[in-house]
Amino acid sequence: MEQAEAVIDLDAIASNVAQLGGLTSAEVMAVVKADGYGHGAVPAARAALRGGASWLGVATLPEAYQLRDAGITAPLLAWLIAPGTPVDAAVRRDVDLSCATLGGLADAAAAGRSAGRPARVHLKIDTGLSRGGATADRWLDLVTAAAKAQADGAVQVVGVWSHLACADEPGHPSVDRQLAAYHDALAVAERAGLRPTHRHLANSAGLLTRPDTHFDLVRPGIACYGLSPVRGWPAAAPLRPAMTVRARVLIGKRVPAGAGVSYGHTYRTERPSTLAVVPLGYADGVFRAASNAGQVWLGGARRTIAGRVCMDQFVVDLGDDPVADGDVAVLFGPGDDGEPTADDWADVVGTISYEVVCRLGVSRAVRRYVGGAS
Ligand SMILES: *Cc1c(COP(=O)(O)O)cnc(C)c1O
Repeated sequence: MEQAEAVIDLDAIASNVAQLGGLTSAEVMAVVKADGYGHGAVPAARAALRGGASWLGVATLPEAYQLRDAGITAPLLAWLIAPGTPVDAAVRRDVDLSCATLGGLADAAAAGRSAGRPARVHLKIDTGLSRGGATADRWLDLVTAAAKAQADGAVQVVGVWSHLACADEPGHPSVDRQLAAYHDALAVAERAGLRPTHRHLANSAGLLTRPDTHFDLVRPGIACYGLSPVRGWPAAAPLRPAMTVRARVLIGKRVPAGAGVSYGHTYRTERPSTLAVVPLGYADGVFRAASNAGQVWLGGARRTIAGRVCMDQFVVDLGDDPVADGDVAVLFGPGDDGEPTADDWADVVGTISYEVVCRLGVSRAVRRYVGGAS
């Protein structure tokens, strides 16, 4: 194996997407933004399509073009586009555009006119996340302008959509409020004459916990990669984490009691101990906040990081257990053999699994694909 690698199980992605598809009658848009949550956008997208996704979702246009450049032709939505960004190529390349402002809609319409075919747009309503999306007081103007641009042949309103704030907390009252606001926005769009084929609201958490948010299309991200936004869900359709990060021990050594370990000597051995140096650090996404706290699987047990995580490496203490140079330390994986999971790492540093896989997936660890079309 490589010195350090992120092993991506494409069959796990495909089967997670298939499991998610079984939970809904809506179409599935697999979200592959941020380089597929660190798993590699193109291979993740192909695996998700193999698992039954019929749409792909990304944040930015360069992310969308990367998929098109790879020959992926599935319907594709990009939703994070700064005002004034040229969108002609998006129209030409069949990338659907999210529009939340009159300016964004005008950019799309202009691109549609110059391409000689309508720009495909999804109008976004802010139902309570207070992030992207048109607020309710601007919604009538947006849908009215969109209906006019559609009548002119400049745009095609494919979708009306929104995003949930707290669906990962089952029972949170904001979900009902957002759903009601979304229904109101759909009614306004309909009165303006729009008939979007794809109404969509649910992220992974909505898909897993709230069937009444599914509408025509669901947009799972994290769940495709086998991680749940809601601990313990879904009980019935277990997801399989697709990423394993591991590295080979650079050097193992015995040190005496009282040896200070790593920068600042924030860790000191209590007795003669075996130390192992693992070649991944904070430049690779290993949280420095995991110093003296994060764990890896090495030599048949979980070992805690001894001292500070450095830029390129960290040290673990194996006590009296032996270690050989080149032994494999597993930072996280599906948990089959006792190794920590991305959720375990998230708990240690007070974050969410999303950040763990996004960070480690873009590290100097070499991505290696197993399964499926790898
Ligand atoms: C990232 C994102 C998703 C996917 O969210 P998960 O919690 O990973 O399922 C869906 N929709 C939008 C708009 C997003 O930005």
